[in-house]
Amino acid sequence: MTVHALLAQKFSMSVDLHTHSSASDGVLSPPMLLARARHNGVAMLALTDHDNVAGVRELQQLTAQPQDPELVAGVEISAQASGQDVHVVGLWIDADCPALGSLLGAQAVLRGARAQAIGERLARKGLADCYAGALLQADGAAVSRPHFARHLVAAGHCRDESQAFKRWLGRGKAGDVRCEWPGLASANAAIHAAGGLAVLAHPLKYRLSRTRLDRLLAEFREAGGDAVELVSGAQAPHAATDLLKLMDRYQLVASTGSDFHSPAQTWCDVGQQLALPRQATAVWELRGAA
Ligand code: AMP
Ligand code: MN
Ligand code: MN
Ligand code: MN
Repeated sequence: MTVHALLAQKFSMSVDLHTHSSASDGVLSPPMLLARARHNGVAMLALTDHDNVAGVRELQQLTAQPQDPELVAGVEISAQASGQDVHVVGLWIDADCPALGSLLGAQAVLRGARAQAIGERLARKGLADCYAGALLQADGAAVSRPHFARHLVAAGHCRDESQAFKRWLGRGKAGDVRCEWPGLASANAAIHAAGGLAVLAHPLKYRLSRTRLDRLLAEFREAGGDAVELVSGAQAPHAATDLLKLMDRYQLVASTGSDFHSPAQTWCDVGQQLALPRQATAVWELRGAA
């Protein structure tokens, strides 16, 4: 059996290459997330917090426990492609890479300015003190929209986070403040500079027509992208079939992840997303070939 086949056999048990901790908009601390992955029998786990690697560093300091999954250092970079906001996951990155660090530093500045702008916009709509509330929810992490959502729930303005996005933070709403995220080429280049592989995150979440999805994959490949999340979260079983055809066209390999944020997110626990289709070439096989 080849090394690739062995790796695939081992990791097809349960691999989760997209998760969040409280270092971004996740609820569990990095060690709690790791414990949950261990409990769920995950063989390989990537922590991919939004635009920062603080949680990855924290996990790398821990002494490994028996049954720990193999840890993959990751990050989820906010980026833009043809006017559309997209996310690019970097896997097997060197968290200390200066080029990556400089991109993440710039992201933190963008996030800070956007959070203030969101706060001002919501204040104009009669929702005072949301910026302070979101800061409190973030508890030192870079502020993101879920922190605003949690504040809106805690302050009694919304029933749950989903309603907060529907009313205030989602596409086209007052709190949907545009941000000049880096382009795909910059995001991919920073990931490659850090020795990682660049994965287009959850392509089916962007709600694109097939033609526009095709264009996005072409653009991502052109910008140096390596892989696409063929399976993300609680996806319908047939959803991967069509996407895999597009990926093959652009020679993009497949990644998989739950996009886990919270134990309250009951639709997909850590490592519990569907298995990759057999025909797909898994991103860790590319890693094996490197
Ligand atoms: P941000 O990084 O600040 O742009 O916030 C984006 C994050 O908000 C995503 O990574 C999700 O975790 C979360 N999110 C986006 N849309 C929704 C939604 N409709 N309901 C709940 N959470 C959402
Ligand atoms: Mn998130
Ligand atoms: Mn994402
Ligand atoms: Mn994510």
